[in-house]
Amino acid sequence: MRQQSERTVEIVDVGPRDGFQPIGPFIPTAEKIHFVERLLAAGVRRIEIGSFVSAKAVPQLSDAAALVAASAAMTGIDPQVLVPTERWGLAAVEAGARHIAFVVSVSEAHNRSNVRRDPLESAQEYAALVAKVKPSTPIRLNLATAFDCPFDGTVPEAKTEALLEVLIPLRPDAEVALCDTTGRASPAHVASLFSRCRRRFPQVRGWAFHAHDTYGLGTTNTLVAYQQGVRVFDAAIGGLGGCPFAPGATGNVATEDVVWMFETMGIPTGIDLAALIPVARDAAALPGAAAGGRVRVALSARDERCYPPSD
Ligand code: ZN
Repeated sequence: MRQQSERTVEIVDVGPRDGFQPIGPFIPTAEKIHFVERLLAAGVRRIEIGSFVSAKAVPQLSDAAALVAASAAMTGIDPQVLVPTERWGLAAVEAGARHIAFVVSVSEAHNRSNVRRDPLESAQEYAALVAKVKPSTPIRLNLATAFDCPFDGTVPEAKTEALLEVLIPLRPDAEVALCDTTGRASPAHVASLFSRCRRRFPQVRGWAFHAHDTYGLGTTNTLVAYQQGVRVFDAAIGGLGGCPFAPGATGNVATEDVVWMFETMGIPTGIDLAALIPVARDAAALPGAAAGGRVRVALSARDERCYPPSD
């Protein structure tokens, strides 16, 4: 796992999972695989390629096993899959998943809406899963609604901390991602919660931040998390995304916006923006997609528009 004292950041593209999830028309599996290949070619190493969940609940992600199989043939990829329960986690392992992200919501209302369990029941599922997964399999813990819940509003920091107290000892080497599921977290809240959690749980080697851009604060909050020492950031190509159980939540922060921000600050991402933009354009143009972000639009306009520029 990456040392978080480094300046370099790792951007995890969650587009093929969080981004595609709310899109209605089924994206053909071959097209999904092609997106993953192009992201990898642009330098995105860790990609959340799908989720093992009920096909009835999320039909768009019903081909996760095919994505796992396809990723096995790709060189240099770190393919992450999201699972919400022990049963789905074991199904992912059975299918050959190499990197597991287990999601549990801090707020009871959101967790019930997601998986019909209270957060402590989900913690038991996580305990059962990590006991059965090989110790060499990297695990990420995704704390959804760590800041804000679509049903209950602001989530008290003590509540997030209390759930982490239960979860972290179960697999001490897991990466811990605090997720702003609704995009309503303020920069001050992001700074405060990461500062508090990093102090409280110094044994955690890897922290990650999952931003949504609902209120235009996706890159701001990402930067604030960086200033708190976080070095792993989720983002989605084309700013796709949303959450079927978080009404009003719009897209993830756009990968290209996060790459632009860090690279203009001289912080290496390992991602080739010129190679990424055409992928972002194609993702944004998917039928049924609600795209977000700015950099794709700005760079595309700069490519195609006639100069001289005006102000
Ligand atoms: Zn999300």
